Amino acid sequence: MLQIYIPLNFLGVIYREIKQNLTDLDKMFTLMDKEQEVADALGATDLAGLEAPTVRFEDVHFAYDPARPILRGVSFEIPAGKTVAVVGPSGAGKSTLSRLLYRFYDLQGGRITIAGQDIRAVTQQSLRRAIGIVPQDTVLFNDTVAYNIAYGRTGASQAEVEQAARAAHIHGFIAAQPRGYETTVGERGLKLSGGEKQRVAIARTLLKNPPILIFDEATSALDSANERAIQAELRQVAQGKTTLVIAHRLSTVVDAHEILVMEAGTIVERGTHAALLAAGGRYAAMWALQQNSSEVGV
Ligand code: ADP
Ligand code: MG
Repeated sequence: MLQIYIPLNFLGVIYREIKQNLTDLDKMFTLMDKEQEVADALGATDLAGLEAPTVRFEDVHFAYDPARPILRGVSFEIPAGKTVAVVGPSGAGKSTLSRLLYRFYDLQGGRITIAGQDIRAVTQQSLRRAIGIVPQDTVLFNDTVAYNIAYGRTGASQAEVEQAARAAHIHGFIAAQPRGYETTVGERGLKLSGGEKQRVAIARTLLKNPPILIFDEATSALDSANERAIQAELRQVAQGKTTLVIAHRLSTVVDAHEILVMEAGTIVERGTHAALLAAGGRYAAMWALQQNSSEVGV
């Protein structure tokens, strides 16, 4: 009994870890079918109306563990083609929002809609095709760089892969490897730094070019010069797309349609950058703090 229990439990831990990193779910689900926590509803149809989808969270309640509520009544809307930013301390529940939109888990209360359709009513495949995520921690497949980038859109040409890599500022690094785009990366290949992995994930998302984007602290592992350059690229691709930006650096959210300040699973402040500064609350305090720390070069 014990012998069986330990490895299964261990697999569960690995699975959750990978899932947390929002990587290759479909592959994961096939490998470990029994662990799947969400299922297509009977008669689920493909997500429709994706030209300019509006995303809505309506009174969302969620807990990973029933004893410990994580989101406690979160409501917001990302209007078609706009960017909404989420800021707040670590553990507030920001990344959980992105996991729920991707439907890694189902809600305990409320609903999430895309173009008016409850995400529980549509096929997971069509949902996940519509969303591109650059997660906080990217896990790459033990495969070539080309495969890892093209994973966003199987069938992409080498020229398209390269174009995405250039935009994500990772082309030079790849081209400098002896095997170039055929270099194997991951645990059994070339180990990439956090920033390099992040850029591969950005290239993958640029190539996928979905109507809905999620950037979860997408440039947190980059140095500030690279971060500024890539932020500019990300702002460009987000033009006209429905975008959720989870930000650690407030300078990247100044232009957002709305900024949500999250604390302990609720939205405690919301508004534009200017309105939040004028309100002199938590956001204004965070802003002042980051201005000071950037002056001393932190
Ligand atoms: P943030 O992105 O704002 O730092 P998260 O959304 O990642 O916060 O996490 C919110 C809370 O949920 C944290 O307290 C975290 O420990 C908890 N949490 C995150 N993932 C899991 C999980 N898979 N199982 C249990 N608790 C989790
Ligand atoms: Mg997070």
